[in-house]
Amino acid sequence: MEKVILLRYGEIHLKGANRGYFEHMLLNNIQHALKGFSCTVKKVAGRYEVSEYEERDEDELIDRLTKVFGLHSLSVASKFLTDYDAILDFCSNIKLTQKSFKVEVRRADKRFPTKSMDMMKICGEKVLENNTTIKVDVHNPEVVVKIDIREDGFTYVSFSNIMCCGGMPVGTAGKGLLLLSGGIDSPVAGYYLAKRGMSVHALHFHSYPYTSLQAKEKVIRLAQQMGKYLSNFKLHILSFTKVQEEINRKCNRDYTVILMRRIMMRVAEKLSQKINANAIITGESLGQVASQTMESITVTNAAVSMPVFRPLIGFDKLETIAVANKIGTYDISIEPYEDCCTIFLPKKPVTRPELEKVLEEEKKLDIDALVEECLNSDEIIDI
Ligand code: ATP
Ligand code: MG
Repeated sequence: MEKVILLRYGEIHLKGANRGYFEHMLLNNIQHALKGFSCTVKKVAGRYEVSEYEERDEDELIDRLTKVFGLHSLSVASKFLTDYDAILDFCSNIKLTQKSFKVEVRRADKRFPTKSMDMMKICGEKVLENNTTIKVDVHNPEVVVKIDIREDGFTYVSFSNIMCCGGMPVGTAGKGLLLLSGGIDSPVAGYYLAKRGMSVHALHFHSYPYTSLQAKEKVIRLAQQMGKYLSNFKLHILSFTKVQEEINRKCNRDYTVILMRRIMMRVAEKLSQKINANAIITGESLGQVASQTMESITVTNAAVSMPVFRPLIGFDKLETIAVANKIGTYDISIEPYEDCCTIFLPKKPVTRPELEKVLEEEKKLDIDALVEECLNSDEIIDI
């Protein structure tokens, strides 16, 4: 008998002619997630199977697999050659701690002589022999003993399904550049686009020495946590200091934030072209702060011509926090280091900027030179 991890995928099943491509990408991503562990990953009839792994690695393997986008659920199963006595023997040895259970039998192998319904009854009785306090509950059992008699001559017995993240395999939906601040929102925004199959790279602006080295180090740790969901994830760290000093020195203070945000977008667009990304991603949510009103977002958007994705646009902060907790970025995000957006802040930033006035302010700056200088400070970290 062998223990294996069965991996099921969801939405890919709906794909038509290019389903093979999605399955291939998913297999690659699974293998990447399990790199460094001794194990075998194969595709077996509409699902994947991880086998030949060390028992002591099981929890870590499961933890990594639950973070691979495209997988719907997984379960640990015992696999053995199909044989009536072997199945009954297995059932006799099951020890359950729950109060209720049911047995499900799927008999894909029609050479197996006993019908599914009969097997369910026989196996259920075997389980009861050894578990005297547990009850059968076919409607709402605490645990389901699943017996899968497959056509390939093997029987799999598993107990529980562990839910994975769902979504589509990373790498099947283009590449995006995430504007990653040290805050709560942007890591969650990146998570959602990666979940839909986008390969995500990140860009962080720091304003050293106005912002600390700890603030930068915190963003690297945020990226490392995000990296558990992404393969080939790169973080670009750029200096925004000169841009902020120039805006602060030359422009109307009330426009500081919108001017900064438009330059961030321009830099992001230029960097996207360089790394072949087709979209910019931000953690903005409508109405959250002055720079995220409808008017501010419109004026910010007007600085670039490539698509800007804002997956959190309709999220309440509490909804975002719940996801940040789930993906393990929240505790890092709330560490108290300043972001470049919080320095040089005006007391009363404009909340309804007009594009003409913003353009007037921009005439006071050499924007192309500032963008260029910012891009030249690129420090690339392979996560
Ligand atoms: P977050 O929680 O992600 O920091 P926020 O609510 O603090 O968001 P803002 O500071 O207005 O909002 O930033 C809005 C978006 O702009 C962020 O979600 C992020 O995508 C981007 N952004 C802000 N600061 C930076 C930065 N220093 N480097 C890169 N991107 C940034
Ligand atoms: Mg922020």
